[in-house]
Amino acid sequence: MAVSSDCRSSAPGASADADVYARTLDCVHCGLCLPACPTHQVLGVEADSPRGRIYLMRALAEGRVQDPAAIRPFLDRCLDCRACETACPSGVKYGEILESTKAKLEQERPQRGLRAFLVRFLLWHVVARQRRLRAMFALARGAEVLGLRWLATKLRLLPAHMARLLPPVPSAAERRPLRPGLHHPPAGVTPRGKRVALFTGCIMEPMFGRVHRATLQVLLANGFEVEVPAAQRCCGALLVHAGMPGPARQLAAANVRAFADADVVVNNSAGCGCAMKEYGHLLGTADGAAFATKCRDISEFLAAEGLSATPAECRTKAAYDDPCHLCHGQGVRAQPRQLLAQVPGLELAAHDKPEDCCGSAGIYNLLQPELAGEIGRRKIESLAKAGIDLVLTGNPGCMLQIDSHLRAAGHKARVRHPIELLVPPS
Ligand code: SF4
Ligand code: SF4
Repeated sequence: MAVSSDCRSSAPGASADADVYARTLDCVHCGLCLPACPTHQVLGVEADSPRGRIYLMRALAEGRVQDPAAIRPFLDRCLDCRACETACPSGVKYGEILESTKAKLEQERPQRGLRAFLVRFLLWHVVARQRRLRAMFALARGAEVLGLRWLATKLRLLPAHMARLLPPVPSAAERRPLRPGLHHPPAGVTPRGKRVALFTGCIMEPMFGRVHRATLQVLLANGFEVEVPAAQRCCGALLVHAGMPGPARQLAAANVRAFADADVVVNNSAGCGCAMKEYGHLLGTADGAAFATKCRDISEFLAAEGLSATPAECRTKAAYDDPCHLCHGQGVRAQPRQLLAQVPGLELAAHDKPEDCCGSAGIYNLLQPELAGEIGRRKIESLAKAGIDLVLTGNPGCMLQIDSHLRAAGHKARVRHPIELLVPPS
């Protein structure tokens, strides 16, 4: 890759470019982020480290990269996990630099080919539209029941990494969406006099409907009124990560409107929560910034309010694994652990690398299967050493990735969302 070392290159003038450029200058090249970076841990290459990528993005902003497409593979291999932001003593906003640069590349030199087309089509025309996503899951379930998935795997029509990664499609009952509208605490529960709005997102509903039902149950059992706004949309995180901030802004604006009357917007997906807390930056409006201040991860909300309903007993040994977009993206670390410590009978074991990425990163594990596979394997190695029966993590992508790697390794431990352990006995 040709990167000119001509230091006389001038700083870019256009405001977005100038903004990205200014942020790259915060990096003092100390290298303290390198050990935290999962791609650098696996590949050991400077250009696949945070410092290396910042250098490349700065060179691009300064016009010193002769072929901008040449830096794309290094950016595509980044998980956007933000572990480098936690490690960085200079406060470099790596995620913002990466996302702005990807958007610029996508706008000026959109990726060509069937794969790029399919990614764009699926993210905007399927994942971002709940009805179509539900229809796709219904079709996938039908195909599975008819044995077509097995056939597609045998005939290698379904790539091996996809066959391994995708768990069985949940039944129609398990995929059942929450009823939109207002839900009241049941009789016998002391009301808190507080209403929360629940964000349901895209993939969590059809894949882990049980997590939404548990979230609703826990909130109601703890005396909160729960509003599920019908007009809410996907958070747009996957579009932002793919360099498509324009469509993501449409979704963000729709969510700002859908939750306009809410005081608190609670979510149970770390990736969505992180993206929504960044709506101020994404939309660049006061409304977007005000919406962001109302967003809470369910663990953050419940830990602050306190549990009034004791969770059901769960006699098992478990490890909590931090989703990157909860610990690095939102700084939420203690709250899930505080809540899980209140589950009667639960033994919470520590493991070596709770804050290392699992390799899921949205659809990264589908697009970069080998690297994601190695990062996932290292995560399972760390969990297996803890001798646990259960892994607890609060993001759908992490749940899928860790579960698939546990199954592939023949490990007996299974994966649950922490909220599922907070449900009181019925
Ligand atoms: S976001 Fe994660 S993968 Fe990307 S450079 Fe930072 S630490 Fe590495
Ligand atoms: S830790 Fe921060 S300042 Fe140091 S190289 Fe990494 S990004 Fe740059």
